[in-house]
Amino acid sequence: MRTFACTNCNNTIYFENVSCLKCGHPVGFHAPSMAMVTLQPDASQPGLFKAIKAAGGADVRYCSNADHGVCNWLTSANALNTLCEACDLNRTIPNLSEPGSLRAWSDLERAKKRLVYSLLRFSLPVDTGMTPPGRLIFDFARNTRTGHLDGVISIDVMEADAVERERLRVHFDEPYRTLLGHLRHEAGHFYWSMLVAGQNNIDKFRDLFGDERQSYYEALDRHHAQGALVNWQASFVSAYASAHPWEDWAETWAHYLHITEAVDTADSAGMEPRAAGLIFGSVWPFKRYDIYRDETFVTLMDRWVPLTIAMNRIARSMGHHDFYPFVIPAPAYEKLEFVHKLIREQARQRH
Ligand SMILES: [Zn+2]
Ligand SMILES: [Zn+2]
Ligand SMILES: [Zn+2]
Repeated sequence: MRTFACTNCNNTIYFENVSCLKCGHPVGFHAPSMAMVTLQPDASQPGLFKAIKAAGGADVRYCSNADHGVCNWLTSANALNTLCEACDLNRTIPNLSEPGSLRAWSDLERAKKRLVYSLLRFSLPVDTGMTPPGRLIFDFARNTRTGHLDGVISIDVMEADAVERERLRVHFDEPYRTLLGHLRHEAGHFYWSMLVAGQNNIDKFRDLFGDERQSYYEALDRHHAQGALVNWQASFVSAYASAHPWEDWAETWAHYLHITEAVDTADSAGMEPRAAGLIFGSVWPFKRYDIYRDETFVTLMDRWVPLTIAMNRIARSMGHHDFYPFVIPAPAYEKLEFVHKLIREQARQRH
């Protein structure tokens, strides 16, 4: 995630901000320019804003979910749809008359915005134009099973409860469990249909991940009854990845998004991880790069590994769990590289 500059006063602006902490102007995320922009209210038309020196000076308004305090994205002033492109993907939102639902929804939206931001950076379409998976759809509901089916990503609202999520993390013996992790994983299932099944990449997929035609539900039942494959650490990014080739893909995909986004954030924070360690902003300005589009897979991983070693040490020095509590074995590198290639290929096809 990049940091942004207030287009009015040049103060640093972060992705979740709703106003500039220096000049006080409202700010919002403008997806067409992939930037936070600073706004000037239109005195004659309540709810309308002019973007200051940005977004082509277009008139904008906040997404209508800003009324609930859960969205800071902008829409075009004359768009018929009052929801931003990220909120427009919601089919079901939590029942706001239930206690805790608004807070849960807010956390879910924060995570989803980061997912959608990454998809946009990768030029991954939210509407594949294919059936399945069709268009990306989110159901945030209580007592639903977190998962993906036919293009719909369902997240149990209980996952937004930090106590419950930690209970499940310990229960399933997982080193990592977050809303963003869930969303990235489930998005992996969605894009499998488009990038693997839909693009004739199934043979290569089976070479790397195994044959996905084995019964999915039997495989999941077996995983939950007997646990992960013995020695899963030799081939998979996580224990759950060993449950079925589809889960291996979704876990690998989630890690690829974790890695790309974290390296992008490190870059934006002035950290240049190298094999020898971190080089900080003292040598600024170093070469800027767009890890989402320009750099090779080898460069991505060359930056990632020293970054995780440093971040894990820093996390431990604060008494936290590891920042990245995983070890990537050699076969999983190949799977990550496969995800990298498919994402890059589709981006090339679309530009
Ligand atoms: Zn400002
Ligand atoms: Zn929105
Ligand atoms: Zn899954």
